[in-house]
Formats: sequence, structure tokens, C-alpha cells
Amino acid sequence: MALATAETTTTLDFGPAVALSCRECGTRYDLGPAFACIECFGPLEVAYTWNSPDAGAATVTRRQIESGPTNIWRYRALLPVPADVASRPNLAPGWTKLVKADNLARELGLRSLHVKDDSGNPTHSFKDRVVAIALEAARNFGFHTLSCSSTGNLAGAVTAAAARAGLDACVFIPSDLEEAKIVMASVYGGRLVGVEGTYDDVNRFCSELIGDPLGDKWGFVNVNLRPFYGEGSKTLAFEIAEQLGWRIPDQIVIPVASGSQLTKIDKGFKELIKLGLVEDTPYKIFGAQAEGCSPVSTAFKAGHENVRPVKPNTIAKSLAIGNPADGPYVLDIARRTGGAVEDVTDAEVVDAIRLLARTEGIFAETAGGVTVGVLRKLVTNGLLDPEAETVVLNTGDGLKTLDAVSAEARPTAVIRPSLDAFRTAVADNS
Ligand SMILES: *Cc1c(COP(=O)(O)O)cnc(C)c1O
Ligand SMILES: [Zn+2]
Repeated sequence: MALATAETTTTLDFGPAVALSCRECGTRYDLGPAFACIECFGPLEVAYTWNSPDAGAATVTRRQIESGPTNIWRYRALLPVPADVASRPNLAPGWTKLVKADNLARELGLRSLHVKDDSGNPTHSFKDRVVAIALEAARNFGFHTLSCSSTGNLAGAVTAAAARAGLDACVFIPSDLEEAKIVMASVYGGRLVGVEGTYDDVNRFCSELIGDPLGDKWGFVNVNLRPFYGEGSKTLAFEIAEQLGWRIPDQIVIPVASGSQLTKIDKGFKELIKLGLVEDTPYKIFGAQAEGCSPVSTAFKAGHENVRPVKPNTIAKSLAIGNPADGPYVLDIARRTGGAVEDVTDAEVVDAIRLLARTEGIFAETAGGVTVGVLRKLVTNGLLDPEAETVVLNTGDGLKTLDAVSAEARPTAVIRPSLDAFRTAVADNS
């Protein structure tokens, strides 16, 4: 994967971002559409003026952030985006609700619980955050087509963002996805291509396409724009901390597909500490997977440092990545912070979706069933401290995965419109 900065004609404007830096060996590269270190193949991350070796005093303040827009652009000083990003055509995602979940807390025996409900984003999943940052990178590099390999939510977020920004879109999904995700990935225009195979097959295909003239001038948000894409997940960490009154929670439960979101939430917390925006308090990060695609939790429990790929088979399709790129980092973060990675069965996922819905009025997609199910399991097996302040993520809307609950979520009764009929039906059901 070559660095392509030489091809771009306009001056790049990535705001406070100054370089790409290898997570493994620290080698620095010019900002460009690259994702792997040429020296060691480690993943590249965005480096900023304020975390470069010769950085002076921190310049980002709470007041500056609080006076910004109520979307992710309030954190633009911590993101690789130009200063005028809020006035450019994009979906302005973020600033979703942090719901104080007292009913669910009581049910699970927790003292303090919040649900960060990211179903409130423009295309109803957390993916709008990562796409918004990748879109700015695509513009900077002069790409005319926005693309991705997707487990479903990303495809819809990419086609919607491209529509609004006036770019072409061509997105790739496994052909057996949920109906709602196919419709959402198609309705915004652009090209939607179903690929016969798993997500991992789709992803491998996209890597080939990047090297081919067919994919020239294409920005694959989660492949050649991955360092920028990843930065979008930090905004979850920023929002949670700010919404808690500029504090990092003691414990947080995060879903794991490729592991990017979990890794970057940790990066976000660390940056807040480094910039003095929050106190340096300890926090534990817990990863959540579905049993039918649990390569990271399996490795965690076995004490392995590497993740052995699996072939996914679960209703939590948005998390069905059998060969997670950031798996080793998830293991490292869970162990270093004193957290864990745990998994739940599909039946437990469905139960947890219903539990969250009936206690808090939040209808989660299967990924939210995974995190709430894992939360419950971690309380039961004693890995999570019930006295500590806990946050659990819901990353997508239940309307996207209706099939998961549609067999059980039916009308209490179907009646003729008469009092007699209702009386009889109520009597039958009581
Ligand atoms: C993509 C996605 C995630 C997280 O994916 P990572 O690849 O681990 O960053 C979580 N929840 C939903 C609903 C998603 O679509
Ligand atoms: Zn390296």
C-alpha cells in the first residue's frame, strides 16, 4: 500500500492532525490514504500537534468544546478535520443520549448505570461517526467514490454520507444481510453490491479492489481510510465523559466486531486525560461478542495473545467479523485495564433486547442485545463491580433487526372492535 500524498494537488487540511504514526513501532508518515506501516505492517494511527513529541502546553479547553455544535464537530480540535467542518455538507452525527438507566440497573443489581444510545444517529447506528471523519479524508485526498466492506450498518452510513456530500458511492455487503440493512444501504443511491460469502470474504475482495485500476480514486472508509475512520469512535469516549460531567466512567461495556470501536474509545479516554480535560481516574473496558462469532472472547478466556479466526454464525450480524483486525489490541486493553471480553448466545441476545426495551424504552438492534446480555453475564459471574459507575453501549436501532424478536413480539390479542370481544380477550390473557 503506497502513500499517495504525491497524487493530491490541493493543500491538505486535516486541522490539528499532523501525521500518521505506526501503533507498533512509532514510524511516522505523511497524512495519506494508507493504513499499514511499511516497516512492520502495524496499523497506522492519526497523530496530532498536541500529542507530537515536541508539543507545548495543551490548548483545548472544556469551554471551547462546550460552546461548539451539538454533534461530533464540538470535538473538531481532537479530530483530523478542517476548522470549518461543521459548515460543510455532512450528516453531523453524534451527541446522542446518555440515558440514566435506573430501571435496568435495579433489575441487574447495579448502583449506577447509563446507556449510551447511539441508535439516535442519522442512519440509526454508531457508524455515522466513523464515516463522517473518513468522508473528510476522502475529500482531502480527492477521491470521487466512497466505498466500504460492511456487515450492514456501515454500508447505509456510507451511501447516506456520500449522497449528502455529492460523492459517488459503491458499497459491498454479504448478500445474506437483514432486509432493513439492505434497504437502508440502497435507498440513498449509489451502488450496493451483495457478495456471496462472509464479511471476511467481502473485506478480502475490497483489499484486492484497492490495488486494481477499477478501485482507483476510491476511498474505502474502513480500509485505505481506516486511520481516519477509527478516529470517529473516539467521539463516543468524548461524549460519554462530557455527559457524565467531564468524568471517565469506572466501567464500560463495548461491542466488538473488528475491535476498532473499543480500541479507539480507549484512545479517546487517554487523550482526554493527556489534555487535562478529565481527571486521570482508572477505568475498566469490557468487550462484548456473540457466542456464534466470539474469536476475541475465546482468546481472552484462553489467555492467548492472538486471535484465531472463526466462521461466524449468529443473529448479531453487525458484529459478525470472524477475523477481527484489532482483536489483539482489544485483548491487550481488556487485560491492561482489568476488564474482560465475554460472549452471549443468540437466545441471550434476544432476551437482552427485550429486557432493555421493557426497562428503559430503548429498542436495540442485536449488537445492543449483545452488550446488555454481556453486561448481565458479567454481573452474574462477578467480573463487573456492581457498586462502580457503569456505561453500556447500544450501537444500533432495533428497527434494523426486527427478525431477531418478531417471533415473540406479537399482539397480546387480535379482536373485533367491541367491548365484549376485548373483555373476553383480557379474561383469556389474565
Ligand atoms: C460496526 C459496529 C460496531 C463495532 O464495530 P468495530 O468493527 O468493532 O468497530 C458495533 N455495533 C454496531 C451496530 C456496528 O454496526
Ligand atoms: Zn511500524
